[in-house]
Amino acid sequence: MPGLVIVGAQWGDEGKGKVTDLLAERAEMIVRFQGGNNAGHTIVRDGEEFKFHLIPSGILYPEKTCAIGNGVVLDPRILLGEIDGLRRRGVDVGNLKISANAHLIMPYHVLLDTAGELKLGKLSLGTTRRGIGPCYADKALRLGIRVQDLLDEKILRAKIRTALASKQQALRELSVQRRKLRKEAGEGDREAAGQAIGDAPDPRLDLHAMTEEHISYGHRLEPHIADTARLCWDTLDAGKTVIFEGAQATLLDLDHGTYPFVTSSNPIAGAATVGAGVGPNDIEEVWGVAKAYATRVGAGPFPTEIEDAAGRHMLERGHEYGTTTGRERRCGWIDLVALRYAVRINGMTSLAITKLDVLGGLETLRVAVRYRSREGALLDSFPYHQSILHGATPEYEELPGFDADISGCRKAADLPSEARAYLEYIEELAGVPIRLVGVGPGRDQVVWMD
Ligand code: GDP
Repeated sequence: MPGLVIVGAQWGDEGKGKVTDLLAERAEMIVRFQGGNNAGHTIVRDGEEFKFHLIPSGILYPEKTCAIGNGVVLDPRILLGEIDGLRRRGVDVGNLKISANAHLIMPYHVLLDTAGELKLGKLSLGTTRRGIGPCYADKALRLGIRVQDLLDEKILRAKIRTALASKQQALRELSVQRRKLRKEAGEGDREAAGQAIGDAPDPRLDLHAMTEEHISYGHRLEPHIADTARLCWDTLDAGKTVIFEGAQATLLDLDHGTYPFVTSSNPIAGAATVGAGVGPNDIEEVWGVAKAYATRVGAGPFPTEIEDAAGRHMLERGHEYGTTTGRERRCGWIDLVALRYAVRINGMTSLAITKLDVLGGLETLRVAVRYRSREGALLDSFPYHQSILHGATPEYEELPGFDADISGCRKAADLPSEARAYLEYIEELAGVPIRLVGVGPGRDQVVWMD
C-alpha cells in the first residue's frame, strides 16, 4: 500500500486521528496535506489523550517521519506550542518535517477572520476564527508568507510590509469596530469586548515587532524545515508506505462540499497530490472514515439532523463537542446519499466506520437511503444545487438496534447480529468494503473486518 490517503467521509470529526494512528503502524511516513490548526485529532494511547491540531497523528511513533505538507497553512506560534507540549510529555519530535513551501497564518489573518465573521452577523459561516481562510486567500493573491521566508529577515520584512499594505483599510475598520464595542461594553468589560472580537495587542501588527517575532520562530523551526515532497518521493520510490492524512472532510470541501458552509481548502483525496507534491499514480488506496451516525459543527445544510432523544443519545454518548472549539456538534442519522457521494468523489477503496458503540441502546437505527425534494421528486444522488439540498428531506430505512455494550468486541463475530446487519447494510449501499470498525475511543477498541 505505498500511497494511502485517509479522508473524512462526512462533515468532519469522524475519528480520522485514530484510524491514521492505527494504519500508521504499517507506514514509513505520515503527511498532512491541507487545512490548518482548525483540525483537531484525538488519539488515546495507553489511557493518555493526545490532541493534535497541526502535527500529523503519526508523531507518537518516533521512528516514522511526520510531515506538514505544502498544502497546509500553519500558525508558527501554535505549532511551536504543540511541539513544546509533546516534548513536555516525553514525545520525541525529531522526525517532524515542515514543508518550506507551506504558508504561514499571520496575526492579521486571525484578526481579519474574526472581523469577517462579525461583519457577516447572522450569516456568519461559523469558522474557527483561526485565520485559515484569510491565509489561503493571501496564498491565492500571491501575498502569502511561507515557512522558508522565516529564514531570511530581509525577505520576511518586505513580504510582511506588502501584505500589510493591502490590509490597512480592513484593519482600520476593525479598530473602529473595536473602539465601538469597547465603548458599548463600558470600562469594566473592556477585556471581554476585546476577546469577543479576537483583539490582539496592537504591537503584534507592528511591522518591526512582527518581523522580529517571526524571525525567532524561524530559528526554532529551522531544524524541521525540509523539502517534504522529495521526502515523500524517496519513501515511495523505496516501496515504503506514505499515509496522506486529511483534515476536515469531504462535505466541507471548498469545491465539492456544501459551499459556502465549507472549509477554505480541499480535504478530498485528490488534494493529497497538490498538498503533498506527489502524482495521482502514487496513490493506491483511499480510506474514508465515517461515523456510524453523522455530526456537523457550525452552520450549513445537514439533511439527516435530528433533535430528538436519539440525537441527544448521540451527543451525550458520543461526547460530540469539538476538539478545537468545544462547540456542541449537531447530530443525526447516517446519510448514505452523502456517503455514496463521498465514495465516488474520493475514489474510496475502503471504509472505516467509527463510534458504532455510541449507537448501542437505541431500539431502532435509521439510515437515510435517498432524499425527497421540496417538489416531491426522489433524489438518489447528492444534489449539486444548494437550493435543492437545502430543501431535501431524507427517506429512511429502519433497522433493529442493538442493546449490548459492544466496547469489548474485537472480532466481527463478537458483534451482536443487529450491529453486523447494520454494517452490512451500509457496506452494500456505499459500495466499498468496511475494513475497520471503532467500538470505543481506545486504540485497541477496534474490530478489523475480514
Ligand atoms: P478527527 O478529527 O476525525 O480525528 O475526529 P476527532 O478526534 O475530533 O473526534 C473523534 C473523537 O471520537 C475522539 O474523541 C476519539 O477519541 C473518539 N473516537 C474515535 N473512534 C471512536 C470509537 O470508535 N468510539 C468512540 N466512542 N469514540 C471514538
